[in-house]
Amino acid sequence: MTIVVKVGGAAGNSVSGVLADLADRRDWVLVHGGSEEVDRLGAALGRPAEYFTSPSGVVSRRSDAAHLEVVVLALAGQVQTRIVAELGRLGVRAVGLSGVDDRLLGATRREGARAVVNGRTVRLTDDLSGAVTSVRAGLLRMLLDAGISPVVGPPAVTGAGEVVNVDADRVAAQVAVALGATDLLLLTNVPGLLRSVDDPSSRIARVPKTDVATLVPLAQGRMKKKVLAARDALAGGVVRVVIGSSRGDAPVARALAGDGTVIE
Ligand code: ADP
Repeated sequence: MTIVVKVGGAAGNSVSGVLADLADRRDWVLVHGGSEEVDRLGAALGRPAEYFTSPSGVVSRRSDAAHLEVVVLALAGQVQTRIVAELGRLGVRAVGLSGVDDRLLGATRREGARAVVNGRTVRLTDDLSGAVTSVRAGLLRMLLDAGISPVVGPPAVTGAGEVVNVDADRVAAQVAVALGATDLLLLTNVPGLLRSVDDPSSRIARVPKTDVATLVPLAQGRMKKKVLAARDALAGGVVRVVIGSSRGDAPVARALAGDGTVIE
């Protein structure tokens, strides 16, 4: 039995709390984001982050060549290296992999992503982002069987060998499906999917798998990707998805105990 845990990288997440909780277990693959570090490094390099909103309201990071460089430096460089170092300090043998390593995450490039700019829909022809279409689960299993915990993050690679940015929540869903994971935990900086974004007490506790589509309109901005990831994971055979908090004590154990938005 394997679980896939995704920890967010936006401000307000507690990555260290998640790692401390994972250190006692050996049944997991960790997927990470790192948007705060991408933004920080981009600003430091004079390439401040840009986001765009699709016509359906999904917010994505602008990933032209200059911004993709920052994504790779920040995620595969900084964030992943720090996570693997911290796990090592906790006594966990871990290996960090981007989707490019052994072509772990195969993707197709999103040709001409659509963005709403000043009320008009335009096509972004220079965007180097994509959608994950394949996961080399064998590599992850090999590591798990050897007692080594995989730590996975963007970017991914296309069949033509292009490096593309991909959304880490969607990566986590695809990894969970490919591994036949029982649970996918999407741990973030809020206690779950909220009926009203500004009210942490408005968490939706439990949703049957068949109703997951009804959650899409509730989620705004980047939360939409978590709901879409949950939908993909459940459609692919994952038994339970929990959108929960990365903060506080034992976030993994709490999410497994149902603290968060449980979709099953
Ligand atoms: P992470 O880096 O942890 O993946 P994101 O910033 O991508 O985090 O997504 C989490 C954010 O989504 C929350 O901090 C919140 O501002 C936003 N959000 C939008 N709609 C909702 C909603 N209905 N419920 C909870 N959070 C929401």
